[in-house]
Amino acid sequence: MEGQGYPSKPRLLHWYDQNARPLPWRKNPEPWPVLLSEFILQQTRMEVGIEYWKRMIKRFPTVHDMSISSLEEVMLLWQGCGYYARARNLYKLSTVIASRDPPIIPSDPKELEKLPGIGPYTSAAISSISFGIPVAVVDGNVKRVYSRLNAIENPTPPEVQKWANVCLEEKRPGDWNQAIMELGATVCTARAPKCGECPISSTCKAKLTENPTKYPAPKRRKSKKINGHALVISSPEGVVLSQRDGPQLGGLWGVPITEDPNGLQELCSDYKIGSPERVGEIHHAFSHRDFHIQVWKIDVLKGGISSASVPISRLDQRILEAAGCVEI
Ligand code: SF4
Repeated sequence: MEGQGYPSKPRLLHWYDQNARPLPWRKNPEPWPVLLSEFILQQTRMEVGIEYWKRMIKRFPTVHDMSISSLEEVMLLWQGCGYYARARNLYKLSTVIASRDPPIIPSDPKELEKLPGIGPYTSAAISSISFGIPVAVVDGNVKRVYSRLNAIENPTPPEVQKWANVCLEEKRPGDWNQAIMELGATVCTARAPKCGECPISSTCKAKLTENPTKYPAPKRRKSKKINGHALVISSPEGVVLSQRDGPQLGGLWGVPITEDPNGLQELCSDYKIGSPERVGEIHHAFSHRDFHIQVWKIDVLKGGISSASVPISRLDQRILEAAGCVEI
């Protein structure tokens, strides 16, 4: 790729050797701890993700340990981490691996991609970090470093992948991939790049401009607004909860909800209750859906279960908080 800027390999690797954050899975980058970290960090911030990783690795030190547990237990441990499809895929992946002979995580990126929840980024990360296979990762951090080194506002995914393939350090592929991502996460950050501390600033075109943060150009996120209702039916035994399905919250438990702004009456008649009291309103944003939920509550004599006994989403926790029905 002629005319493009590439990071200096010795400089970036030296910087990484001196500055890499002491993340717990880096001490011994075996496939299972690394895979677990990659699943968790796909959509969770590092500080929060480390706590979830510790919790999961303590309960499931091996992929086999997870495979002989249950989806419900995995979901309970994942509770609050969001994007629950990751937890469902992780459990499924553990059972797929356990059913094989030998029951081990493959090193080949193409084989890894056949497993639930693993795409090109995750497969390249596991292959390079745990097995030393020379394959380049591309994530948001790599894209940002590429865009800024070359002052390109709207890079295409194949363009970034091609660049990452060319600059890969084949002798230390895992460290190299982590070095670029680490640079993007800690120095070349989205909003406040620290160009004065950057080990590759001598080849950076964005640094020469007035505003490096305009690379890459921000994507506009379109969110759908949902105006709905949630019904908290509470008794001395607990609250009425049922298991949800669907890609976002499937496998978790929650209170009756309607996404129809005029659907409260129908919801009440489905559950054969009279007139609930309005106890609050919550706003809760998922990646593409903004929920504006009116929370209604009614007390009944019996029925329901303890909300602490099943995995529930943050959305339902907030609904129960609004209704004063949270159990720890
Ligand atoms: S010099 Fe600044 S903009 Fe360029 S890569 Fe380094 S931190 Fe990012």
